[in-house]
Amino acid sequence: MFNIKGFIKTSLVDWDGKITSVIFLPSCNFRCPFCHNKELVLNPNEFENISIEEIDSFLLENKDFVDGVVITGGEPTLHKNLPELCKHFKEMGLLVKVDTNGSNPEMLKHLIDQKLIDYVAMDIKAPLSNVKKYCNSTGLEEVNIENIKKSIDILRKSDIDFEFRTTVVPTLHTAEDIAEISRFVGRESKLILQNFTPRNTLNNEFTRIKPYEREELKRMAEIVKGYVKDIKVRG
Ligand code: SF4
Repeated sequence: MFNIKGFIKTSLVDWDGKITSVIFLPSCNFRCPFCHNKELVLNPNEFENISIEEIDSFLLENKDFVDGVVITGGEPTLHKNLPELCKHFKEMGLLVKVDTNGSNPEMLKHLIDQKLIDYVAMDIKAPLSNVKKYCNSTGLEEVNIENIKKSIDILRKSDIDFEFRTTVVPTLHTAEDIAEISRFVGRESKLILQNFTPRNTLNNEFTRIKPYEREELKRMAEIVKGYVKDIKVRG
C-alpha cells in the first residue's frame, strides 16, 4: 500500500512547462525551520491516506492534458516503495518528477538507473563546505553532507534532467553563500533561488523574518550566473 497523504489534481507551477498532478508523501528526516509542510513532517498521521485508486481514476480520466506526476513531501526517498510508485505512474504513460532533499543517494541512483523518473528537483540548503550552516538550515544537529554531495554527483553524471533549488532566507543565507552553492553545483547545473515565505513555518519564529526583496534575489542570481548553466529566481 502506498502511503499518500496529499493530492493536488492539477498544477502549473511544480514542473516548468508541464501540467502535473502532485502527490505528497509523509515524514521527513530534516527539520528545516522555514519548511511550509510542517504538518506533513511533524504529524503525518493526522492526515487521512488517499487511495491510489482515487488518484488513478483522476489521471486516467484526464490523461489527455496531465503530462506527469510530481512526487513530493516530506521526503519521498524515505519510502522504500517509492520505486514501485514511480513505476506505477510510468506504466500509465506519465512523466515522473521527484523532489528530494538529497539525503538518500542510493534511492536516487536506483530510480535513475531503473529509468523510473524523468526529472529531479533537489534542495541544497546551504553551502556544502559549511556544516554548521547546513545544520542551521535543516534544523538538525548533524547532517551527512557526504550523502548530499553524492546525490549532486549522481545527478550531474546522469542523463536525466534536474534542477537544484535553494530557499533563500535572510537569517540563514548571504549572497556569498549563494555564490558558493553555485560554484559547487557547477556549469552543468540549473539552480533555482526560491524566495522564502514567512507563513506557517516549521519554526514559528521564522514567521517574523522579512524575506529578501525579489530584486535582491535577482542581484544574487546576476552575480553568479557565470558559475551555472542556468539560474532563475522563483517566488
Ligand atoms: S523543507 Fe526541509 S523539513 Fe520540509 S519537507 Fe523539505 S527537507 Fe523536509
